[in-house]
Formats: sequence, structure tokens, C-alpha cells
Amino acid sequence: MKLVLATTNKGKLKEITALLSGLGVEVKGLSDFPGCPEVVEDGKTFRENALKKAREIAAFTGLPALADDSGLEVDALDGAPGVYSARFSGKDADDGKNNRKLLKLLKDTPQAGRGCRFVCVLAFAGPPGSGIREKVLRGEVKGRVAHEPRGPHGFGYDPLFYYHPARKTFAEMGPEAKNRVSHRGRALKKFREYLKGQTL
Ligand code: IMP
Repeated sequence: MKLVLATTNKGKLKEITALLSGLGVEVKGLSDFPGCPEVVEDGKTFRENALKKAREIAAFTGLPALADDSGLEVDALDGAPGVYSARFSGKDADDGKNNRKLLKLLKDTPQAGRGCRFVCVLAFAGPPGSGIREKVLRGEVKGRVAHEPRGPHGFGYDPLFYYHPARKTFAEMGPEAKNRVSHRGRALKKFREYLKGQTL
């Protein structure tokens, strides 16, 4: 079986490919489909964005598509940056700017108020007429926004995401340890279980 991963984010592509290994699934990336449209993520929820991406990419490629939408929700910021996580610091946002903005907004917030969670919603959709049923799966992991970035691994907010059970940030944990407990790892575990029961 072939499926296409509807993400251009290299960090996520790497994590998802690793987490789908051993299933006998041939995983394609968007780079295998030149001219693939860029899907505008204008939904108000992770679910809306993930479903939109999966549907449009499945329609373009003719293959079942798995899309992920994810982000960080911070309690003290009423769930922000949420679906705006990638663009938190504006048009020219990058990981460094996003992390600095987050630290600035929380500079007067003590330890107890720095609770947050990573959320990942996966959507699976087939091309029109394929008869493949859509499926949506969600994974979450709770943590705390650290006072300063730590660790060389991962991407995005990983250096600021302090995961208490490991006493480390996600960027200090490294990919395997992170994938075992991460929002994306948890959602993908559910997806793996789902796929095992399917004949596509
Ligand atoms: P998306 O590509 O629209 O899903 O944007 C997700 C954004 O949320 C990323 O660019 C990161 O800023 C953040 N994010 C999502 N998952 C993770 C993660 O596992 N580690 C760090 N940041 C993440």
C-alpha cells in the first residue's frame, strides 16, 4: 500500500516516516509530486486544517493521504499560539523568533502558570471515488514552557517544551525518546492500529 504524507515540514516528515516504519506501507512525500498545490491552512481548528490538507493532497496525487496539523497550546495564553504556532511571530516567522516571542509573553509568568500541551491531529483521506473512509486521530502531551531554550534536537518549540517525566525538554530528549511520548507519536500509534485493520 502507498500513502502520501501531506507535509512539507522536514522535521515532521522525518518523525512520521520513522513512526510508520514496519507496516509495509510505502510512504511518499510531497516532493514526489511536482506541482502539488500548497494548501492554505485557514481553518480555526487543527481538525479542519488536517482534513483540508488530506483531502486536497489525496485529490491531487490520487493516493490516500495522511495530513497532520499540530501546535502548542499554552494555558496562560488561553490556548495560543494553537493553530497559529508556525506563524506565531508574524509573516517571517521562524522557530527562533517564535520561541523568543513565547518567552517574552511569559516573562512574568511563574512556574505554576506555564502549563502547556502539544496537540497533533492526523487526518487520513482517500481520493474522490476511492471509497476510502476518512479518519481523524488526535494525540496530546502535557508539559511546561521552560524559562530558556535547552537541547539540540527536534524543531519548533521543542527547546522550550519541558517534559516533566523525563526532566528534560523535548529538544534534550532526542528523537526516539520524544516519539515515544509525543503528541505526534501518540496520534500515529492510533493511526498504526487503525491501518492494521484496513485493506486499502
Ligand atoms: P503546522 O505545520 O501548521 O502543523 O505547524 C505546526 C507548528 O507547531 C510547527 O511549526 C511548530 O512551531 C509547532 N509544533 C508542532 N509540533 C511540534 C513538535 O513536535 N515540536 C515542536 N514544535 C512543534
